[in-house]
Amino acid sequence: MKQYQLKKNNMVNFNPPLMATKQVINPKVFSKIIASSTLGLMILFGVISTICPNAMSQNNGDNNQLQQDSESTQKSLFIAYPSPNHQTTSDRIFFIGTATPEAEVTVNGKVINERSRSGHFAPSFPLQIGENIFTVRHQNEEIILKITRNSNQPPLPIGIAFSQDSLTPAKDIARMPGELICFQAIAPPNANISVLLAAQTIPLLSQSQVVNLPGNLAVLTGDNQPVPSAGEYYQGCAKAETPGELGQPEFKLSVRGKTVTQKAPGKVTILSPTTFEVAEVTVEEGVARTGPSTTYSRLTPLPKGTKALITGKEADYLRLDYGGWIKADETRIFTDAAPPRSVIRSAIARQVQGATEIRFPLQVPVPITVEQGDRYLTLTLHNTTAQTDTIRLDDDPLIERLDWYPILTSTVENEQAVRYKFYLKTDQQWGYKLKYDGTTLLLTLRHPPAVQSGIVSRYKPLTGMKILIDAGHGSENDLGATSPTGYPEKNVTLIVSKLLQDELIERGARVYMTRKAEEDLYPKDRVEMINQQVPDLALSVHYNALPDYGDALNTQGIGTFWYHPQAHSLAVFLHNYLVEKLDRPSYGVFWNNLALTRPAIAPSVLLELGFMINPYEFEWIMNSQEQQKLAKALADGIVEWVKSSE
Ligand SMILES: [Zn+2]
Repeated sequence: MKQYQLKKNNMVNFNPPLMATKQVINPKVFSKIIASSTLGLMILFGVISTICPNAMSQNNGDNNQLQQDSESTQKSLFIAYPSPNHQTTSDRIFFIGTATPEAEVTVNGKVINERSRSGHFAPSFPLQIGENIFTVRHQNEEIILKITRNSNQPPLPIGIAFSQDSLTPAKDIARMPGELICFQAIAPPNANISVLLAAQTIPLLSQSQVVNLPGNLAVLTGDNQPVPSAGEYYQGCAKAETPGELGQPEFKLSVRGKTVTQKAPGKVTILSPTTFEVAEVTVEEGVARTGPSTTYSRLTPLPKGTKALITGKEADYLRLDYGGWIKADETRIFTDAAPPRSVIRSAIARQVQGATEIRFPLQVPVPITVEQGDRYLTLTLHNTTAQTDTIRLDDDPLIERLDWYPILTSTVENEQAVRYKFYLKTDQQWGYKLKYDGTTLLLTLRHPPAVQSGIVSRYKPLTGMKILIDAGHGSENDLGATSPTGYPEKNVTLIVSKLLQDELIERGARVYMTRKAEEDLYPKDRVEMINQQVPDLALSVHYNALPDYGDALNTQGIGTFWYHPQAHSLAVFLHNYLVEKLDRPSYGVFWNNLALTRPAIAPSVLLELGFMINPYEFEWIMNSQEQQKLAKALADGIVEWVKSSE
């Protein structure tokens, strides 16, 4: 999951990991293997021949370390999560752990009834605000956890005062002359609130029904309803026309005959309407967003060299004139005589290796937006005015037709734009790339992979395809999600990725692995590999976990994640294929802005193949026969999808 793609794992192991694996085969798993396989008999023999002490245990190589550790400590109670002094804003918490299945585990005297065959558990407990003490007992062992629940609501005002950190702007902001600037505060009810800014007094009024939206992760637990905010919110807006620094706004609060004043932490600046500050993107792909922080959604990345007028600032973000925001440190700022604007007269397409490249000659590299749909892709060139009479586009293996539309505006400040719509000959799109070569924009649209047909293809149906497999996490710094035994996600993602690699090679594909061992990779390293390797498909292999308020005991199943429309069909197909062929629960198909779903150069899908934290699913995850079946089903699914998308 997103939070576990962070470099450092926040699930801290505080006990030596312990293997509590029972050395018997699970009759349920056994019958499922037989029932769901068309080669039941063969697999039956396969299973019998491997009913051995390791049949249900973790793949040996990765496991020795863990087993040795556990033998040396002689402990049988292990809690993988949370850590003994965990802090959270969640109103509940799950305990992920294991103990010998023969003896009970109690939490504050209450027996944990639901445990897997190997003794794993994942109960949830409610949390009071403040400290919560849990005593976990098993035989003569005891672990004490002190879990602190912090409030996620802004603090309420105490006495005649504004709530702490409630005044805006919280950081320095800059706006255009005449633009609306809004102020907010949390204060006691029935108060008179106003803001003094550059000799202008702005009244703030109490807002009815202010609601908070839960974080993005709430979608993963199905718990994303708005919640009413505590505290009285006051808001008011005004315009400032005069350019220059207006300083920190001063808030005034009057209630029951008493008055207090307090300055907002951020300063307000009004930008000059005649001196033009321009930002030039200095990184390969500038991250454009809908607002001035990482909580805002991403827009089409801005290629290196893009130039645009700065129309606003907030903290370390810049607002560009086409509407997107970018971090100042991804740009170079300079002043110019006029805002960057371009006309466009022509466009020319040509065939390159495995793709069609369209060149848009411009006077200045302008901001762009891409939208992908069924059988079309649109490219918008902002701050651009059409003077186009001719476009050359011969009959093309990929592009059916190119239409274009000017987007008009009636003011000089808001520049026109030009939108190009590429109608395509194929349902499936295989990736694209955008970059500036000087002031010329290059759009590369990839052709379908040259999958070879004929006799060879019957046995090796992926011949001609290059597939990138990204085994999630890796190295001691990036363990990924933690399981009841402490066995880390990074190990099983590698095992399954290698099995998948073998299956894909057997089917004729060329496979590139982002890691083959314990390489320490950041998500951006993996993304770079995808962009350099230019595979036909990219799959990132992960196992899942939940935020603290999730139900670890009752959440299981396969999840698939996509971002660009070109990856949607593959995500849905593989999801349904795995759920059906392996008889696994469906956790769901998710549009999700993840580092490993964002690459546009190829359809990129992230797979969450099960929940590490679920006691029952973890046993399926670690079963080596099931891992083999999973890899085979994934490879078969890819073959079927490639066939269906031809
Ligand atoms: Zn992961």
